[in-house]
Amino acid sequence: MWKVMIPKKIAFGENAARDFEYPKNSLVITTTTSDIYDRWLGYMGIKNYEVYDKVTPDPSIETVEAIKKEYDGRDLSSYIGLGGGSSLDVCKYLSKLTNIPKILIPTTFGTGAEMTTYAVISFDHRKKLLQDERFLADAAIVDPYFLSGTPFNIMRNSACDAAAQASEGYDSKLGNPLTKLFCKEAFDILEDAIINDKPHLLPYGAMLSGIGFGNSSTTLGHALSYVFSNEGVAHGYALSSCTTVAHEFNKSAYYERFKKICQKLKFEPVVLKQPIDQAADIIMPDRGHLDNNPVPVTK
Ligand SMILES: [Zn+2]
Repeated sequence: MWKVMIPKKIAFGENAARDFEYPKNSLVITTTTSDIYDRWLGYMGIKNYEVYDKVTPDPSIETVEAIKKEYDGRDLSSYIGLGGGSSLDVCKYLSKLTNIPKILIPTTFGTGAEMTTYAVISFDHRKKLLQDERFLADAAIVDPYFLSGTPFNIMRNSACDAAAQASEGYDSKLGNPLTKLFCKEAFDILEDAIINDKPHLLPYGAMLSGIGFGNSSTTLGHALSYVFSNEGVAHGYALSSCTTVAHEFNKSAYYERFKKICQKLKFEPVVLKQPIDQAADIIMPDRGHLDNNPVPVTK
């Protein structure tokens, strides 16, 4: 049996966030500041809402609990996650606790989090990757409007993450004909967006990548990348090297094309600071990624 899960409602393309009909009495959850989200909310034309803007990057379970407590008994109709991955993850977890529906609107594209059953929440200062069907959005809105003003560095890291996820997801042993279809289409669109300078296509490509890898998995490239994350390298940046090396190792059909994308985005190779033996000891227990890699990985 094969299974693919996607949000109940997906609105995407130009003006998707402007034309969407938002429920009244929603709680907008965001990581940004009012000068930015006031403009976003104005564009969205949303009425009768409250804003919670105290979510910080790498949100903790304490943040989730605090929001739940603050709005207890307030008869909210829905949560609206508006921002980067952190706001979306907080909404996902809150919705699981309270059964209040969630609308997810990514403004930094790349993770595809609006499409997946994954959430990253910190417990005791440790980031934990969680998966739960209840994390799936009731509605996801993907609108290139939010791209404007995104710094080049964030844009290219996100683009690289989306392309890495699509190609690793395609090669994943957990893949099925439908996830491969999404991953393949996602990579084609992301490649066109990056190589031919069409950034407005990135959100749609990242969205398809989210459906594809979110229903299969990422593999060796992502497994390798976390040692660099721990050394302070941005996720997408680390993948430019790690996924290239992983695709070469796996003899992936995407090796050359992924490498060209990274060259176009002008990534320099990442350099490991810790001893390689120590890094390998961190990577090897990551069975979630390594067991789904198409080629067995030894230390
Ligand atoms: Zn990723």
